[in-house]
Amino acid sequence: MQIRSGFVDLVGNTPLVRLKKVSQETGCEILGKCEFLNPGGSVKDRAAWAIIEDAEKKGLLEPGGVIVEGTAGNTGIGLALVGNTRGYRTVIVMPETQSQEKKDMLRLAGADLRLVPAVPYKNPDNYVKYAGRLAEEMARSEPNGAIWANQFDNVANREGHYRTTGPEIWEQTGGKIDGFTCAVGTGGTLAGVGMFLKERRAGVRIALADPMGAALYNFYKNGELKAEGSSITEGIGQGRITANLEGAPVDDAFQIPDEEALPLLFDLAIEEGLVLGGSSAINIAGAVRLARELGPGHTIVTILCDYGSRYQSKLFNPAFLAEKGLPAPRWLA
Ligand code: PMP
Repeated sequence: MQIRSGFVDLVGNTPLVRLKKVSQETGCEILGKCEFLNPGGSVKDRAAWAIIEDAEKKGLLEPGGVIVEGTAGNTGIGLALVGNTRGYRTVIVMPETQSQEKKDMLRLAGADLRLVPAVPYKNPDNYVKYAGRLAEEMARSEPNGAIWANQFDNVANREGHYRTTGPEIWEQTGGKIDGFTCAVGTGGTLAGVGMFLKERRAGVRIALADPMGAALYNFYKNGELKAEGSSITEGIGQGRITANLEGAPVDDAFQIPDEEALPLLFDLAIEEGLVLGGSSAINIAGAVRLARELGPGHTIVTILCDYGSRYQSKLFNPAFLAEKGLPAPRWLA
């Protein structure tokens, strides 16, 4: 069987790629899981499909029903595309600060896009809470009903990673894996993969790579949810313990400034042909930190979440970077 049956059949089973320069520099095998190769372009296709499949199995979604979600964009793209193949409409609530490229992609995927001001979670107008309220209203008003995907607190998200991403990494490394690290948006990836790998081998070190402006680094270091600084990365940087993160086996945490992560990303584009998004930069920097901690000879896996073209107007725009006081790609500057 060489033929995939459609969008959801294309989700997952992504390859692992050796990141040459950082592997050479650390003496470790640093491997990236190519989640940008998912059909909707990001790791979040997995969560989108896992959440929809779970809702279908529980009888919560009717044909013609509406899926409502608050998202930095990628989950919305995944939900819209899975929804298109299975006969659901999507209403996507997104902070207006997210990249134009993701907004454009959502519109072309047919999502009903609602942009809201970027306000903290404790504010009732925060995009996540806005989406929850909208889903409640639409569940009453829509003829075929509506559900809230609720990626942050719906553990179907991490279960998807536990069932697919974790086992794939285990198989692809032949169980020769010493560490796994990634950043957290919902925590679905870190928790789902971490839980699976720990079950296989308790000694696999699971590490959080936290961008500035997120509160989890301090939480895992000293039990206090406290944020400092800021980051231009999108889709990551959490301020609370989501349901997906509860009980996640996190051994270690790194706090990664954009200034440390972005040069790795720019080098990867021009030297190894991998043009990736900002969360991948944080993840790769986390893998380098973990490699330095473990020492040479270890195998570390991280996630290459999405493609750089999704952030061309920001991450690869020297004017935007200069405004933020961040280094620019040398071949663009
Ligand atoms: N990177 C990108 C680009 C994302 O969109 C997201 C999800 N918002 C993540 C990383 C984080 O993944 P997770 O939600 O599984 O923590």
